[in-house]
Amino acid sequence: MRDTFLPFAPPLIGEEEINEVVDTLKSGWLTTGPKTRKFAEQFATYTQAPGALTVSSCTAALHLSLVALEIGPGDEVITTPLTFAASVNVIEHAGAKPVLVDVEADTLNIDPVAVEAAITPATKAIIAVHYAGHPVELDALRKIAADHNVHLIEDAAHAIGASYKGEPVGSGSNPACFSFYATKNLTTGEGGMLTGDDALLERARQLSLHGMSREAWSRYAAGGKWAYDIVAPGFKYNMTDIQAALGIQQLNRFESMQQRRADIVARYQLAFGGNAALQTPVTRDHVTHAWHLYVIRLNEGELTIDRNQFIEEINGRNIGTSVHFIPIHIHSYYARKYGWQPDDFPVALSNYGRMLSLPLSPRMSDQDVEDVIDAVAAVTAAAAPRKMAG
Ligand SMILES: *Cc1c(COP(=O)(O)O)cnc(C)c1O
Repeated sequence: MRDTFLPFAPPLIGEEEINEVVDTLKSGWLTTGPKTRKFAEQFATYTQAPGALTVSSCTAALHLSLVALEIGPGDEVITTPLTFAASVNVIEHAGAKPVLVDVEADTLNIDPVAVEAAITPATKAIIAVHYAGHPVELDALRKIAADHNVHLIEDAAHAIGASYKGEPVGSGSNPACFSFYATKNLTTGEGGMLTGDDALLERARQLSLHGMSREAWSRYAAGGKWAYDIVAPGFKYNMTDIQAALGIQQLNRFESMQQRRADIVARYQLAFGGNAALQTPVTRDHVTHAWHLYVIRLNEGELTIDRNQFIEEINGRNIGTSVHFIPIHIHSYYARKYGWQPDDFPVALSNYGRMLSLPLSPRMSDQDVEDVIDAVAAVTAAAAPRKMAG
């Protein structure tokens, strides 16, 4: 057994990031400025997006998308129960009503058939989460959005580097929201990016800085004018140049970090594929998976312990784990407000009860990967039900 604890998703930060941050600190320009601009341009190039706006978090990008699209009281927004609270909290912040629909059993992504069935005259948007980094069925969701005249917003917190039928996630004209939180595939500590068409980004840019008619950075730059106007009661959602400094260098090493993730996943798939107690993640043929998370599911009847005990056993072997996610509809606020029952979304609920996420980070060494594999093998072997002979 390992003698040190293996964290679930440690960030990989190198000398380049450190030097770029120091350069920013010495430059005299700390908040939204030249590095934020540069990071947004690099990100738009990488994702082949029409444009990109740096923001303080993915949550901010999601909230800005809804407000910029003028979604509010009386409107419904359809999303998945198998997501982080942020995807649904922003619908509440906008004053709209979240409508949950169940997920597909294999990818655990929002089910387009269920989305179409949930459309009403009040539906204004669909927030689709690319769960674990596996793209949603964009063609089907785009068709539903077009047929019913509703907006498609992508929660791409897990999906930097993913692609669907050869198109990078974020390359569309609709809003796509990315996260650079500490555990995400690319990190700025905290941070986010909104991609989409120019009109959306212009509106979101204004709302991201108090609804001011011009950016603070152009006010204080050489030749900048002092005057500004408040055109809407906006938010304080801008990114700092300190964060962008990290982002620029993380993006420079991004392809190699993604390759390392894919290599670790290949090793896991090989090790766990033949284990009857485990269901390994799928990748549909027409997508490139971003491998933000490696989620395994325990097969009922093949283990004498439940998921919670399984996690205790793995943690007891000094391996960190997590669960993605506690479904939205069983959180007390949402269950109470909308009267949702646990089995209203049975695919999300039953898979939640048997899932866990194993460590996955480009910072992991080959030995770390072997330690995870050994721990999982030891726990499944010790908890194997005794089978009757002959
Ligand atoms: C991490 C995450 C978010 C929120 O990202 P922040 O940058 O922390 O605001 C939103 N949606 C999903 C699915 C996430 O995993």
